[in-house]
Amino acid sequence: MKKIILAGMCLASLSVANAATTTDPIIKVTLLGTGVPLLNADVLEANGRALSGLLIEAGSERMLFDVGQGVYNRLIQSGGGVMNPNVGVDKVFISHLHSDHIADLAPLYAIGGLYRHPDAKEGDVQGFNGLETYAFPTTTPLRVWGPGGGPNQPVATWAMMQNFRTAYQTDFYVRSIWSGWDASLGLDAVETLNATQELFEGVVYENNGVTVTAFLVNHEPVSPSYGFRVDYNGHSVVFSGDTAPTPNLLKNSQNADVIVHEVYGFAREDAPNIYDYHTSPEDAAKLFKSAKPKQAVYTHLVVPPGTTPNDLADRTRAAGYKGKLALGVDLMVINVNADSVKIQQPSTAAAMNTKKARGEFMEVARARRSK
Ligand SMILES: [Zn+2]
Ligand SMILES: [Zn+2]
Repeated sequence: MKKIILAGMCLASLSVANAATTTDPIIKVTLLGTGVPLLNADVLEANGRALSGLLIEAGSERMLFDVGQGVYNRLIQSGGGVMNPNVGVDKVFISHLHSDHIADLAPLYAIGGLYRHPDAKEGDVQGFNGLETYAFPTTTPLRVWGPGGGPNQPVATWAMMQNFRTAYQTDFYVRSIWSGWDASLGLDAVETLNATQELFEGVVYENNGVTVTAFLVNHEPVSPSYGFRVDYNGHSVVFSGDTAPTPNLLKNSQNADVIVHEVYGFAREDAPNIYDYHTSPEDAAKLFKSAKPKQAVYTHLVVPPGTTPNDLADRTRAAGYKGKLALGVDLMVINVNADSVKIQQPSTAAAMNTKKARGEFMEVARARRSK
């Protein structure tokens, strides 16, 4: 009898453990681009990273932060299958207007319009070149939060979106003829639906229990430049944007579970001016030591020739940071759970995403059959 009870207890605790490991994370961060603009084919060959971008999912909210070159393709890869909902992301927060943070905003606006949908219903799934994909007769606007103008910033985010609208009008128009899709909503959205909003310091977005706070960082002369903090259910993730060390980043990183931080590895004497607007591994260590995140993550890695990303981590450790530090790579996933933060390397993350995407696809297929 005692044995049976024990066996029962074991099973119970096993199922609790399984439930904990299969539960969705409270906040899921997918690094979509962890690189920087490069002018050297050897370095590109060596790291092959997309530029700045990360997807943060919290509750029912899915938000993109920065859309640098290559991020659109990573977004497609990140969802793991034909029913990839990530491409339909309709909220984008732009840290600043350097090209490595905005270059794929245009294709996300134009092509991504085919995927954005307010209420995905099974009847909306259409055949598309032999694949099942989201393609809807109407679309929701791409909502963009970005910096306003500044002394060195003649074109603010709103004006930039107007210009994208003009530049991509043919693309919208042609796709609307071809698919019966109402392109006017996508085009009008930029002008009429308050879809582009200027960032300010403070809470810039709040919905379904998720709060996005923008705060100024120091990326002079690119000003204003912002970092972001996402809070949900008592947990939080901070994204530094591009910045030199600034007390405002520390202030906004208090009690954060995760800090995703840029890092610039050249020796100070080799690039003195760059340190006016970027952060060395040693300075990042100071921030991490004060803010004490459960997990620090490097992105936007500037790795000098002849060194590796591990050298950046070694320098951070030598500067006294003893906490967890991950070297970001494209498609790495950071899961914020109730009592832990877990890193998934890209291959594991891809397998999980594919499994999830297939499950969603089968659900839709089943619903269609039962009709
Ligand atoms: Zn920048
Ligand atoms: Zn940058």
